[in-house]
Amino acid sequence: MLLNEVELETAQQILINSIERIQSEVIPLEKALGNVLAEDIFAPINVPGFRKSPLDGFALNSSDTKGATSQIPSVIKIIDEVQAGDTREIDILPAGYGIKIATGAPLPSGADVVIKKEDVVYKNNKIFITKELIKNNNVVSVGSDMKKGELILSEGELLTPYHIGVIAALGLPAVKVYKSPRIAVLSTGNELKYPGEPLMFGQIYNSNLYSLIALINSLGGHAYPLGNMQDNVKEIEKKILESLDQYDLILTTGGASVGDYDLLEKTLIKIGANVLFNRVSIKPGSPVIAGIKNNKLIIGLSGNPAAALISFELLVSPVIKKLKGHQDVTLKCLNVELVDGFFKKSPQRRFLRVHVSYENGKWVAKQTGNQQSSILRSMVGCNALIDIPRGSDIIPPGSTVKAIFLKKI
Ligand code: AMP
Ligand code: MG
Repeated sequence: MLLNEVELETAQQILINSIERIQSEVIPLEKALGNVLAEDIFAPINVPGFRKSPLDGFALNSSDTKGATSQIPSVIKIIDEVQAGDTREIDILPAGYGIKIATGAPLPSGADVVIKKEDVVYKNNKIFITKELIKNNNVVSVGSDMKKGELILSEGELLTPYHIGVIAALGLPAVKVYKSPRIAVLSTGNELKYPGEPLMFGQIYNSNLYSLIALINSLGGHAYPLGNMQDNVKEIEKKILESLDQYDLILTTGGASVGDYDLLEKTLIKIGANVLFNRVSIKPGSPVIAGIKNNKLIIGLSGNPAAALISFELLVSPVIKKLKGHQDVTLKCLNVELVDGFFKKSPQRRFLRVHVSYENGKWVAKQTGNQQSSILRSMVGCNALIDIPRGSDIIPPGSTVKAIFLKKI
């Protein structure tokens, strides 16, 4: 097999350029979190739709308080009371009259100011105001949050819980979002068993299937586990061919390296896929094969669990984000201090599993354990990868390094 090894950034670019986001669909608002808007949202109504009080107090006309002082207070007669949800449109208040008003209740048309309950003396249905009130004080005006017809959210925005609140406040029960990609996950390896099954000597549990499904789901994709497959070209070929029509992306693990039983590239060539690259210059996770067949991307990751997860984070998560309509698919980086250092040279570009936290006014990273690619355990607690450039010497403790953040639930 000819080696077509590429740099990480080249691999990312090739993958991103070979896919398009998926079509849109309308979904109920309560299911919209984490999706990307496929429409501009203009306010169909004013929010609020009526002038309202932001506090409990009394609504009146500011002109009735002209010249009020503590010696000569204005006396306002309270003739009614409105609560939030009161749908009466109360008429103009005659001069010298006011109403008791609760937070969120609508102001009567003649009132132009609200005075806080705590700021007045309320006795015998009268309030005594000891200073002039300024028009529109404590009045939430019509459309002050969102104006009817105004562009509120734009196509391409990722829906956070705050977006969901805004859309609900506009009265919209459903939104148009880009569809979630359907992603087939299959594992190759004669040695693989499912958790719960007994293990014979030489067999292992398939962890990649489970972790990759979880990763895909955490990115808002739909993962479809296609199960364990033997290291057998015919079997792998059949599954991939069957999957091409049904899924937006096919992800495999195992058999992506150069061993006799590493059959993914052979299979891709056999089915006539266009192999984009077959190795990426990173450690761990260099065995990554990408191919295109019928406009569908097939990405084969290493079987080594940590390698599979790291190459997923660096290469597959941007692909899923693009398929899902995200505009920004770049990985997020920050300079951090590597507290414990790293005492091996790095002839290859290396990614260290670390936990980054903010301590004593700075961002610090500590390794989560053994960094070998066969070690899965140190993925636990890992919330960032330290990007160590190719050709680096040992890294003394306290050095500043670049961390790539991994967003987890
Ligand atoms: P491979 O990429 O097929 O050469 O596999 C590399 C290493 O990862 C071997 O030790 C495999 O047994 C192991 N491995 C392969 N697939 C999986 C999997 N799905 N879950 C856990 N380990 C795996
Ligand atoms: Mg294998």
